[in-house]
Amino acid sequence: MRTIDRRGFLRTGAAAALGAAGLDWLSACSGRVAALPTPRPLPWNALARSLRGRLLRPGDAGFAAYAQPNNLRYAAVLPAGIALCADPGDVATAIGWARDYGVALVPRSGGHSYAGFSTTTGLLIDVTTMRSFAFDARSGIATFGGGARNADVFAHCRRAGVAITHGRCLSVGVAGLTLGGGVGFNMRAHGVTSDQLVGSEIVTADGTIRQISAAMEPDLFWGCRGAGGGNFGINTSLSFQTFPVDRLTAYDLRWGSDIERVFAALVTALEAAPDTLGCKLTASRAAPAHGGSDAIEVQLLGQFYGTPDRLREILQPAYAIAAPTRVVFLEELAYWDAQDKLSEPGDPEYFQERARFFDRTIDAAVVAMAFEPLRRWPATARAASFKLFETGGRMNAVAADATAFVHRRSHWLSSIGVVWEATTSPAEIQRNLAWQAEFYAEVVAAAGGGGAFANFIDPSLQDWQRAYYGSNLARLERLKQSVDPAHVFTFAQAIP
Ligand SMILES: Cc1cc2nc3c(=O)[nH]c(=O)nc-3n(C[C@H](O)[C@H](O)[C@H](O)COP(=O)(O)OP(=O)(O)OC[C@H]3O[C@@H](n4cnc5c(N)ncnc54)[C@H](O)[C@@H]3O)c2cc1C
Repeated sequence: MRTIDRRGFLRTGAAAALGAAGLDWLSACSGRVAALPTPRPLPWNALARSLRGRLLRPGDAGFAAYAQPNNLRYAAVLPAGIALCADPGDVATAIGWARDYGVALVPRSGGHSYAGFSTTTGLLIDVTTMRSFAFDARSGIATFGGGARNADVFAHCRRAGVAITHGRCLSVGVAGLTLGGGVGFNMRAHGVTSDQLVGSEIVTADGTIRQISAAMEPDLFWGCRGAGGGNFGINTSLSFQTFPVDRLTAYDLRWGSDIERVFAALVTALEAAPDTLGCKLTASRAAPAHGGSDAIEVQLLGQFYGTPDRLREILQPAYAIAAPTRVVFLEELAYWDAQDKLSEPGDPEYFQERARFFDRTIDAAVVAMAFEPLRRWPATARAASFKLFETGGRMNAVAADATAFVHRRSHWLSSIGVVWEATTSPAEIQRNLAWQAEFYAEVVAAAGGGGAFANFIDPSLQDWQRAYYGSNLARLERLKQSVDPAHVFTFAQAIP
């Protein structure tokens, strides 16, 4: 455990910048989150000099690119400064500076928060340049810097012949993905990403750099396995127990006819499939004005640790209704070559997703419930979708209180998405969001008590504390109180 305290920060140059009057004022703050007593310019230069990395201010080269979140809906929320941290010491310095001057702070890794919760008008503490990687071949433990992205997982794990439960979107941050649980095509065979987390380095609000694991600071480690994003500190490295990978079948199958019956047959077939199959089943519509045909298309995308023939057998009930209209790919490949096919860049766009776990199986009545709103979607935004990620398997073999990730009884994770354009009018955005809210209420009613997913964080959710954290909420609140009593780390849906 290493501490960079206020005095450490002052030694690094802020004191010189402020002079004696500044020092008196700083003493009065004594490390608490404090409002600026009188408006005076913040000593940004002192922060810049204290960092081994760089400080970006509005107008600096690179500022706009670093400031932009993945969800462009929140792109107008611009930070007053971005600390591009080079190491955990920089993170501690940035936290200390923000606390001393009463500046709101927010951590950012990949910037993909659905709800823009890594945006701020204060200090953005950005760890994206911290992308080191180490692999211990004997134990199979891989350690990524806090700024690693899925793209780094692809590159490094490919070389090592291993994997973790990762996502398909190359630009998503490993920190954000893991700290909220982390779903991916491997989750049924190997658990969620946070189940594979065996250790982490985190800088907490008091500037302490802590090594956490099941043996060291186990409570904080527990919280970081499913409820860590933006709540307890800034994770500057993450270590995972990897698993070896070989070959698998990757598939992207599309249906354009008999879609509702095909969708229902696919759900039933997939529920009977082995845990070695991972998939995303989507029914979507794209507006004609944005290049779509307006018809609903069904897509089954995923991976299977088995042969293409065996996969076709599993999917036979759907094939018996209609053969896929298009087989984009269905082939056996080396693991990481398959992931290249399944991956997507995850370019920024305007969107809102609303997600819910299904703690029950899905039958034809639920499918009918989902297709009805899709048919009456006001096609004035770019696209709308209803997605089902199959869950269960190893993911449900872990007790709900063993980690902060509480969702251990689900069969599916559903998500309703709406994507729009910069040119979509506010009235049309509202109309689409109202459609989504109505649809979501029906999903919640049908979901058998399933909660919501902190990684698909939803700014419209009312009961978010219970929905994300369920029976783990009380322990998380106690943890928050002990590690960040001043709520230095806060956002609209931070653990209270
Ligand atoms: C295109 C796309 C694809 C996605 N695919 C998947 C998927 O396959 N599986 C899945 O589970 N999720 C997926 N997600 C959701 C994603 O995992 C979450 O949005 C996740 O929080 C993003 O992490 P990030 O680091 O990119 O985002 P950020 O916006 O940087 O961070 C998300 C939250 O974590 C906090 N945070 C960031 N870095 C740190 C840190 N180092 N320490 C502590 N807190 C930090 C932020 O303040 C914010 O509250 C996807 C999202 C998008 C937009």
